Amino acid sequence: MKTYGYGKQNITEDDIQAVVETLKSPYLTCGPKVKEFEQAICDYTGTKYCVAVNSATSGLHIAMMAAGVGVNNEVITSPMTFLASANCARFCGADVKFADIEKDTANINPDEIKKHISQKTKAVVPVHFAGQSCDMEGVNRALPTDRKIYIIEDAAHAIGSDYKDTKVGSCKYSDMTVFSFHPVKTITTCEGGAVTTNDEELYKKLCAFRAHGMHKDGDMTNDWRYEMRELGYNYRMTDVQAALGVSQLKRLDQFKKRRREIVDFYNKNLGLPHLIEKDFSNACFHLYPILVKDRKKFYFDARKAGLNLQVHYIPVHTQPYYQEQGYKWGDYPNAEEYYNHCISLPLYPDLTDNDLQEIIRRIKEII
Ligand SMILES: *Cc1c(COP(=O)(O)O)cnc(C)c1O
Repeated sequence: MKTYGYGKQNITEDDIQAVVETLKSPYLTCGPKVKEFEQAICDYTGTKYCVAVNSATSGLHIAMMAAGVGVNNEVITSPMTFLASANCARFCGADVKFADIEKDTANINPDEIKKHISQKTKAVVPVHFAGQSCDMEGVNRALPTDRKIYIIEDAAHAIGSDYKDTKVGSCKYSDMTVFSFHPVKTITTCEGGAVTTNDEELYKKLCAFRAHGMHKDGDMTNDWRYEMRELGYNYRMTDVQAALGVSQLKRLDQFKKRRREIVDFYNKNLGLPHLIEKDFSNACFHLYPILVKDRKKFYFDARKAGLNLQVHYIPVHTQPYYQEQGYKWGDYPNAEEYYNHCISLPLYPDLTDNDLQEIIRRIKEII
């Protein structure tokens, strides 16, 4: 029996060729392919600056650092996300405040953000769940106007997506946007991520934090000297990965088209409760979650039927680590209710129409 997971990378001969060529080139890292990938992301998203990194987790971390998040600060994010959206605040010693989700999109609710803003709030991390952009104008309206609170978009799910007349990553409604190129995401560099911004100061900080806090400027550019001016990390992406990224990015619009076809197909042919796409969104869907009554039974029945599905996500505030920070079940009812019923169906461009018929047949047998 053919089995299906919920997501799968798409690798072509061109991708392989691009990787092989870079392996044979003088630069395996810190070379021209990283710059080329960064420029390609800028061109695609319509943003000024891009910093490629070795994961979205690293990207979120240096974005927090560039925003100046530190101890005695608070960062607001969604409880319905992968751990990294919250952990990045903890890396910097800040406290995490969660803001509950909207039931129909599973995205963070701007009104809930407003409730959790305090004098300590330094940044907000909206997560574009399943690929659909958050209500970014709503997020902006939720913030006070008398002081700066950074908006850092966690767009790990959302490369290729549009919000109104902008690409996610354009940073028209935010300070920075973070993408992930893990193989389950829409395009991949094996592991990898990127941060986009239009702000030159933030860009310079991101570059430094990616590489040990090292700077090389002024008359230092002509000799061996460099200066470490702050504490940074080694979060660099390799040229081999960037070469794969450049090649993958060329197919992003094709992936988006097929992903939307699959979502339309499920919407029409399954008749099960699913997330709603808002008018402001034109998503490159990363996930297709449905809501089922008995999720546990559905999960194990699906496995027996060759469907290896996944649950996105266990609400972050219920993790033992965050319970130690004072959170408990019951704190974010919408996220918890969503979690109790959600399960993500197969969604990736390699699925053929026959595959989709077969998946639907199996689901209808077990539902
Ligand atoms: C995958 C994911 C991340 C982390 O991405 P990595 O590249 O694996 O570090 C962060 N946030 C969300 C919402 C994700 O889905």
